[in-house]
Amino acid sequence: MAESTYDFVVIGSGPGGYVCAIRAAQLGFKTACIEKDPTLGGTCLNVGCIPSKALLAASEKYEEAKDHLGAFGVKVGDVSLDLPGMMAHKDKVVKSNTDGVAYLFKKNKIDWIRGKAAFSGPNTLSVTGEGEPQTITAKTIVIATGSESTPLPGIAVDEKRIVTSTGALKLGAVPKTMVVIGGGYIGLEMGTVWQRLGADVTVVEFLDRILPGMDGEVSKSMQRILQKQGMKFRLATKVSSAVASDKGVTLKVEPAKGGEAETVEADIVLLSVGRRAFTTGLDIEKAGVKLDERGRIATDAHFATNVPGIYAIGDAIAGPMLAHKAEDEGSIVAEIVAGQSGHIDYNLVPGVVYTWPEAAQVGKTEEQLKQEGVAYKVGKFPFTANGRARAMNMTDGFVKILADAKSDKVLGCHIIGPEAGTLIAEVVIAMEFGASSEDIARTCHAHPTLEEAVKEAALGVEGRSIHI
Ligand SMILES: Cc1cc2nc3c(=O)[nH]c(=O)nc-3n(C[C@H](O)[C@H](O)[C@H](O)COP(=O)(O)OP(=O)(O)OC[C@H]3O[C@@H](n4cnc5c(N)ncnc54)[C@H](O)[C@@H]3O)c2cc1C
Repeated sequence: MAESTYDFVVIGSGPGGYVCAIRAAQLGFKTACIEKDPTLGGTCLNVGCIPSKALLAASEKYEEAKDHLGAFGVKVGDVSLDLPGMMAHKDKVVKSNTDGVAYLFKKNKIDWIRGKAAFSGPNTLSVTGEGEPQTITAKTIVIATGSESTPLPGIAVDEKRIVTSTGALKLGAVPKTMVVIGGGYIGLEMGTVWQRLGADVTVVEFLDRILPGMDGEVSKSMQRILQKQGMKFRLATKVSSAVASDKGVTLKVEPAKGGEAETVEADIVLLSVGRRAFTTGLDIEKAGVKLDERGRIATDAHFATNVPGIYAIGDAIAGPMLAHKAEDEGSIVAEIVAGQSGHIDYNLVPGVVYTWPEAAQVGKTEEQLKQEGVAYKVGKFPFTANGRARAMNMTDGFVKILADAKSDKVLGCHIIGPEAGTLIAEVVIAMEFGASSEDIARTCHAHPTLEEAVKEAALGVEGRSIHI
């Protein structure tokens, strides 16, 4: 059996793992990254963030050409969908990103070990893949094995009729009807793609609201806007079974609190009730690594597991399951191992939903502040009063800034509207520097921009917005 020794080995090449490997190599460690899939980049680049955004961008263009360009005085002929062309765009985007990681590995002299890693001891891994099995020994091992779609009892995923997001990214035809189980961001984004392309989409959500975890006002507003676009919602409803046949899927749905079940038919069912840490086949017990109560790798604030030399990051550990959170943890853990200090403020990890309009948030929601008994002030500004949004015909939504009632320190920001995911960045930086709402309000913002809505919301905290 081939044997190799490294300073630093990362298991998994998602945004957590590949960023960690690059940072470790930059810091001078002899580094390898083990990946079981044929391409680098993990969930995010292969079947997550990147392909979903490629399809969201493409379907938005289709819908724009079909329904919205006329309002700008642009006449287009018959607009028709070329689904294989759209999928080819997505595949090309994925390939350029995954190839990009392979290039970065070469540039940073990181060995890409192809195969599935399993612990055979605290600092030893066996890797099985296409070639001869290998034994890898390393002083530092970082587990970055990511996550998988959470299953639901009574629903057997076949990735054809009953799909996870992975299957929903490569449907061969536009379904007439689609039921999305779960009103979180993945369900809404993938539901949006297929609705724009012509599917009749119904979202079934167990809770009495969509986007749990986001500010209540944003989530209500999102539901209203998506309903206007034609998406249907059945809240406080649970799916107790879904059975696929050649013709479609038969679902049993019932009130979440109990009650009479009814039958619903759909061509395609997308199961998107969340994701869970993936550690299958890793044999962590052979290294003695402990899991937490939810099956995630248990770590301390410095990403160290209970076994010296073994660390874990990203979706495999606690915290928001987001690519940028995984990336930041990847850099930080490499720096910590190199003797530097690193820290991540989880309150300032932004969250974005890439539907139209987008929704974005950072910091505390109003519900959280109420629950914590924090006195706060609200500044809110609608995009209907923003000149640039009017010019773009994109006036749905608002910016809401929450600031401490006494100190004026910004505690949270919630945006629904055009480019919300980009607009939130300014507030994340402001909050990183402990800004007050007045700091944002007194910062000069270019005109005419959507960013002016952020400034106006900040002005609104003291009741002095100008344009409303
Ligand atoms: C449809 C969808 C859309 C998403 N959109 C967004 C978004 O817009 N923004 C955002 O921030 N997040 C998004 N996410 C979430 C994001 O993809 C994850 O948070 C991110 O990929 C987590 O990174 P990671 O490095 O922890 O793990 P992953 O990206 O899951 O990578 C883990 C890697 O480890 C490998 N691996 C696992 N076990 C082994 C083993 N034993 N040996 C070798 N290799 C192994 C896997 O093959 C995989 O490549 C989305 C997810 C999905 C599914």
